[in-house]
Amino acid sequence: MGLPARQPVASGIMPRSMVTIHRLPDQLVNQIAAGEVVERPAAAVKELLENSLDAGATDIAVTLREGGVRQIRIQDNGAGIARADLPLAVARHATSKIGSLDDLESVATLGFRGEALASIASVSRFSLTSRQAAERHGWRLDVAGGELAEIEPAQAEPGTTVDVLELFYNTPARRKFLRTEATEFAHAEEAVRRAALSRPDVAFRLTHNGRALLRVPAQDAAARAAAILGEDFMAAAVPLDEGTAGLRIWGFVGLPTAARAGRDVQYLFVNGRFVRDRLLAHAVREAYRDVLHHDRHPAFALFLEVPPATVDVNVHPTKTEVRFRDGRAIHPFVRHAVEKALARPAGATVALLPEPTPASPAAFGTTPFPSRQAAMPLHTGMPEGFYDRLFGREQPAAAPRQIARPAMPEPEIPSSRQDVPPLGFALAQLSGVYVLARNAAGLVIVDMHAAHERIVYERLKASLDRAAIPTQQLLIPVTLLAASLETATVEEHAELLARLGFEMAVSSPTSVVVRSIPWLLRDADPVTLAREVLREVAEVGASSVLAGRRDEMLAALACHGAVRANRTLTVAEMNALLRDMEETERAGQCNHGRPTWCQLSMDDLDRLFMRGR
Ligand code: ADP
Ligand code: MG
Repeated sequence: MGLPARQPVASGIMPRSMVTIHRLPDQLVNQIAAGEVVERPAAAVKELLENSLDAGATDIAVTLREGGVRQIRIQDNGAGIARADLPLAVARHATSKIGSLDDLESVATLGFRGEALASIASVSRFSLTSRQAAERHGWRLDVAGGELAEIEPAQAEPGTTVDVLELFYNTPARRKFLRTEATEFAHAEEAVRRAALSRPDVAFRLTHNGRALLRVPAQDAAARAAAILGEDFMAAAVPLDEGTAGLRIWGFVGLPTAARAGRDVQYLFVNGRFVRDRLLAHAVREAYRDVLHHDRHPAFALFLEVPPATVDVNVHPTKTEVRFRDGRAIHPFVRHAVEKALARPAGATVALLPEPTPASPAAFGTTPFPSRQAAMPLHTGMPEGFYDRLFGREQPAAAPRQIARPAMPEPEIPSSRQDVPPLGFALAQLSGVYVLARNAAGLVIVDMHAAHERIVYERLKASLDRAAIPTQQLLIPVTLLAASLETATVEEHAELLARLGFEMAVSSPTSVVVRSIPWLLRDADPVTLAREVLREVAEVGASSVLAGRRDEMLAALACHGAVRANRTLTVAEMNALLRDMEETERAGQCNHGRPTWCQLSMDDLDRLFMRGR
């Protein structure tokens, strides 16, 4: 089969030589630009909201019909547009926001390209009504198919109303890309949510098909975040606010325990502009790396403020991408700020039932412990000794592992906060799973395995960092039946294994002997540990074990090394666990992002028993 013979230029297509260069009509230029700037109703909503905010509006109403395809109306109480400027507002590359390239360097408004109104007006039946406060009435300019109508006087409050009807009515190719009404509405609503999140000081309303769906007054940032992201998000989030040298980051980061299956609650703003930025997203992800299972996604709303001259916002027509002049400074700044917020030691923040001011010591109460009713004799079918154990009065006979008499301050009720450590004193162990403790605020419940796992993990990391993992020599070395990959790994990486605290040797072609394990993991089964570490080293290679995968491996080991459920702890051991938690960073979550403890305050308990105060 040969190549097809050269064909003459198909009839109907003009030969190149006959095409003359000509300017595209303005309307066509605008429609082409519209393809970039307003690919769907949500994009028009975003652009119009930005214009309202740039105009200083403090109250913005968004009205949509049929997902915004039939109608988008944005009404604001901003500065308005003078009659003479109305035609310019809808002209391409006409803007009141910058006058030179220098201005672009320090642009503080959301818009500056002068494209949005021209683009939107070229692909819809468009009308712009505006009144400046000093005027007695407003003016209205209609645009259809790019044709400007006569400007007419109009009844209007001070501010601007933009009406966009029948989006893409004259560009069928674009209309074909529209999705269902529900999808288009969801995107448009998201645009409103982003704007509302970024400007808590502005009131927003959203109506769809005649139904009022959102109404927020001007409020503080926390109230706005709660209104937009939900009370659930805020109940499991910590605030942060850090600044250095012209940089500031503030906002709310969800605790790992509130992580989600998707990335749906991840909001990043740079100088008030919602952005998708890989550098920032990566910095945040890094901050969660240690406390989040890799298939879970954190929830956060973070606002980065940088000097305008250090960030280029003119990367893309939609301006959702930015380029930092010094990304290498921004990345660690963001990562550390988030890490710090997440790592507030246990006691500084309450994981499940936050107090109104979680970071303040007052969360633990400065008032004397309220006196409660005296213990009542209870008559139930509990086994003998149950209550003794519940209240920490362990009997030596029943507790052969006991190493110290419980140092319980039972009758003595500490009267000031200083006497009670943040996580309080152990009361009892429940079902071999939970440790109950009493602190100044009330009852603390600890998942002892999860808590211990976190402590072991953090300590393993710290000792590996110091290249000093203490080892525990096994009194009787254990031998494990090994596959050839395992023996090969031991032979190849004996030195690395030793650094990790494992002394191993090949004792026969099919067996490996384990002589020592990390001291922190001394309670774990040495065979399980050895297999875990061999698998990890074989799978990911020695260098990764110490670098990228290090923390995952230590987490896996910590899980084996942590106290198992159903192990009876003495009160002294429980108190030691509580003290260790207080000293451990990130003790609020286990390595898998589950909570390790929660607080039930006296108020919470009173509510449970409907005790009015
Ligand atoms: P840009 O926002 O990039 O300047 P637009 O096409 O979005 O370009 O808007 C063009 C101009 O119209 C703006 O520069 C502004 O002067 C004026 N304008 C648009 N919307 C409003 C509004 N809601 N209130 C006041 N002025 C507005
Ligand atoms: Mg604009």
